[in-house]
Amino acid sequence: MARILIIEDEEKMARMLARVLREEGYVAETAGDGRTGLGRALDDSFDLLIVDWMLPERSGVQIVRGLRAAEVATPVLMLTARDQVEDRVEGLDAGADDYLPKPFALPELLARVRALTRRPRGETGEVGTEIRAGDIALDPVRHVVRRNEERIDLTAKEFALLAALMQRPGQVFSRSVLLDTVWGVPGEVSTSVVELYVSYLRRKLDRPKEPSRIRTVRGVGYTFEPRP
Ligand code: CA
Repeated sequence: MARILIIEDEEKMARMLARVLREEGYVAETAGDGRTGLGRALDDSFDLLIVDWMLPERSGVQIVRGLRAAEVATPVLMLTARDQVEDRVEGLDAGADDYLPKPFALPELLARVRALTRRPRGETGEVGTEIRAGDIALDPVRHVVRRNEERIDLTAKEFALLAALMQRPGQVFSRSVLLDTVWGVPGEVSTSVVELYVSYLRRKLDRPKEPSRIRTVRGVGYTFEPRP
């Protein structure tokens, strides 16, 4: 049974979410402010965090940054009244896994909760299946990327995008396929977010004066070069 923590200061909303999730068979707990929520989430005993953007004490973005800095990889579904692309990008870049603008329909929330709780978690005992391409290694279970033995810190979305590309080095992926694979919800985020995240990955992965490992295929999309 998946455990979900709802960090939401609007009491009615928090109670409603908890009730709906319990009816679906989840164990749901609530925290009413950012500080309490972050403290509980740092335990790393939850399978999913539903985090409101605007919270007293700590904002949703601060919570996600705090968790990722502490290497807690619990998936985060961010709720927000804002629907500006920049805000979404900020939240996703901080390490949120998905985004749901308020007001939302419950079936949509539940679909995202199902998708996020299905993802493999980095729990001890799981067998890692490391993906290697030349000098870059990606461990999908422990959520670690290394170039030679040097660790490269990536946000959750950067990691998911690199994992998608590295699953099949040399294969060309279109922007919309990457958007579907990594962001999951078509129409919610524009494909320009893929370009933005490719630029983030290049900045972190590539070496100066060497061609990028993520090659742009004009008019088509991107491919991951197996070798430097
Ligand atoms: Ca709020």
